[in-house]
Amino acid sequence: MHRLGVVLSALTVSLSGGIACAAASDGPDAARPTVERRLDTVGPIDTVVAISIDGLNPNAITKLGRRGAPTLHKLIRQGATTLNARTELELTDTLPNHTGMVTGRRIEAATGGHGVTRNDDRRTPATVQAAAGHDVSSVFNVVHDAGGDTAYFASKTKFSLWERSWPEAIDADVIVENNKALVANFPGDLTNETRSFRFLHLSAPDVAGHATGFMGPGYLRAVTATDRLVGRVLRAVKASPTLAGHTAIILTSDHGGRGASHRAPNRPANYTVPFMVWGPDVARGANLYAINPTYSAPGRTQTTYADSPIRNGDVANLALDLLELPAVPRQRAQPGPGPDRVHRSAGVGHGLNRQPSRAFDCCIITGAG
Ligand SMILES: [Zn+2]
Repeated sequence: MHRLGVVLSALTVSLSGGIACAAASDGPDAARPTVERRLDTVGPIDTVVAISIDGLNPNAITKLGRRGAPTLHKLIRQGATTLNARTELELTDTLPNHTGMVTGRRIEAATGGHGVTRNDDRRTPATVQAAAGHDVSSVFNVVHDAGGDTAYFASKTKFSLWERSWPEAIDADVIVENNKALVANFPGDLTNETRSFRFLHLSAPDVAGHATGFMGPGYLRAVTATDRLVGRVLRAVKASPTLAGHTAIILTSDHGGRGASHRAPNRPANYTVPFMVWGPDVARGANLYAINPTYSAPGRTQTTYADSPIRNGDVANLALDLLELPAVPRQRAQPGPGPDRVHRSAGVGHGLNRQPSRAFDCCIITGAG
């Protein structure tokens, strides 16, 4: 067992986000913001839990209040948050936006995006790299290359795309459609496995939204139920002597939704998502835009990639910043290299112990519990 023993050397951790959207002629770092964006923070973080609540319209958090969404409101009080982040520009669908969260890229492959436009279980193209037509690295790769363990826990079967795309970098993937059953596995993983990065996807609000209407009573009940599950995760972190004070939580969503759907990417209800950061290093009760002046709050406008709203795609590089690891490499390799070639040659490492990853077979369990 090992842990990325990173101790922050400075009193700040940068939120160096921005979605990779380099045109083909641009250099590898063309899309990197030139200005460092920093959160005021203090203390060590050695593990990050990224949580995505599928189809979480931030208005639901406001509408439910502390009573109906106590955990999310706790994150707002104790962390740095905004209820006005943005999805990917091109699509407000699940798999494209989640793949943006773990790669830090936009969607459109021709402009350096991850290329995942489909939102189902199709096996062709089989990988993110095949969808993009170029190499696409992820937060899993960077953490794994630095010697850390990674895992994702998802509640939709289409997330198997990630394991196929980054098989060496993902130490465990658990797919259980029943959200309660999925989260029942999570505290055990938190306490028994030493991982640096975990991704947890909770589908219930999206499922309820499609069945009974987004922002309707059934949907709001699902948000409340999901809030409870996030509360379980938070309590597990706080109860663990090794995790408490060393764990950051990043919470966002792939899209919002109102009424029957979330499909139209130009509707504010669909492209507006929350973005929350909680942990020992994170400014309490802060608005993320207020403490990150190089990002700009977008009002109600959709914005483009030339603008600088906080996006759900900021998850990958924020997680890496919190772990004091470099950003996801954005090199656009020539056709041909395997999925791991770019980051394997990137010399990532902080003198950390690299241990072989444990054998952990993919354990897709659908509809369990
Ligand atoms: Zn949906």
